[in-house]
Amino acid sequence: MATRDPLEFVQEELGKLREAGLYRALRVLEGEQGPRARIDGRTVINLSSNNYLGLTTHPRLRRAAVRAVEQYGVGSGAVRTIIGTMTLHQELEERLAAFKKTEACIVFQSGCAANQGVIQSLLTPQDLVFSDELNHASIIDGCRLSRAEIKVYPHRDTAALRRLLEETRERQARKLIVSDGVFSMDGDIAPLPELVALGEEFGAIVMVDDAHASGVLGANGRGSVDHFGLHGRVHIQVGTLSKAIGALGGYVAGSRALRDFLIHRARPFLFSTSHPPSVAATCLAALDVLEQEPELIQRLWDNTRYFKQGLSDLGFNTGQSQTPITPVIVGEGALAMKLSDRLFQEGVFAQGIAYPTVARDKARVRTIVTAAHTRDDLDQALEAFRKVGRELGLVGR
Ligand SMILES: *Cc1c(COP(=O)(O)O)cnc(C)c1O
Repeated sequence: MATRDPLEFVQEELGKLREAGLYRALRVLEGEQGPRARIDGRTVINLSSNNYLGLTTHPRLRRAAVRAVEQYGVGSGAVRTIIGTMTLHQELEERLAAFKKTEACIVFQSGCAANQGVIQSLLTPQDLVFSDELNHASIIDGCRLSRAEIKVYPHRDTAALRRLLEETRERQARKLIVSDGVFSMDGDIAPLPELVALGEEFGAIVMVDDAHASGVLGANGRGSVDHFGLHGRVHIQVGTLSKAIGALGGYVAGSRALRDFLIHRARPFLFSTSHPPSVAATCLAALDVLEQEPELIQRLWDNTRYFKQGLSDLGFNTGQSQTPITPVIVGEGALAMKLSDRLFQEGVFAQGIAYPTVARDKARVRTIVTAAHTRDDLDQALEAFRKVGRELGLVGR
């Protein structure tokens, strides 16, 4: 008997995306992840990578990876809790703890896995989590996996957070306040001093996800806790090794007890194989570079200021950004995709981002400058924005 294809809805959903102008084919990078990159057969200025310091191609990192492959092979062969903990993994955790000025650190396969693992491990269905409305999807997933009650507070609104904490003051529950350190779609910074003060007042755990802050904010890129001088007052610092660090992975920096607990409870740590040794070696070399080449971070911030000013002088709406992530907010999803497509034709790659990644009326093209961009790259990109922005009526003539 002929039956309907049970996956027919997939085609229907794709059709809807096409009609709405939101269907995307994956762009393909045909070479290195660099400030100018070959994408889909064209060499363009790349304003869409998280390679903040240009470390994906740094000679010291390449050498460290190659050497580790030669010395240890290409894979770890097991999960961490069986026999997948190599000396390099241990060394990386010790170095990261020292970098973050915490007692200990535990590395996960990705920042995404770190968020899911830590929140799920710490909270039960009886507990409460207070989460910024613009927190990263992996934080939201971690909250959902824990089945704790989720109280979402308006973006960076600490008065609203205080009200939620007051309403639940009497609840006998573990309480967790969690926020991105730098918000990935808007580039603004969390009000961490206020979050810490509220955590201390209401007895809540404070967790910050510094995926976009590590390597960017604070001395030598130590992150938002260092930026605000809050060492010792944030219980959980999540970071990624996939962005400024240039390789792949995530970590949780905090107390030794927290690390030991996560080793026994965090499901991605327990049930998924550890990094290849080359990745751990790459990350160790990246930490050397952060400590020994602070000029990279200086260049990142010089470029950030220059490009942000340029976009705002042209009259674009760049939101509240305070970091190298600068959104160009246009409103409609299809318009953001159109802007991105036209920029690409003019030699600039800046990803269009629409609902559900951002609110329906806040679709945007997101730009990220890196230390590796030259002034010439940035001037050329601004010229493309000027031309296409006028053409689409986004800025005046
Ligand atoms: C990118 C990102 C992650 C995920 O990190 P990966 O290492 O790529 O999995 C987590 N949190 C935030 C805020 C991010 O921007």
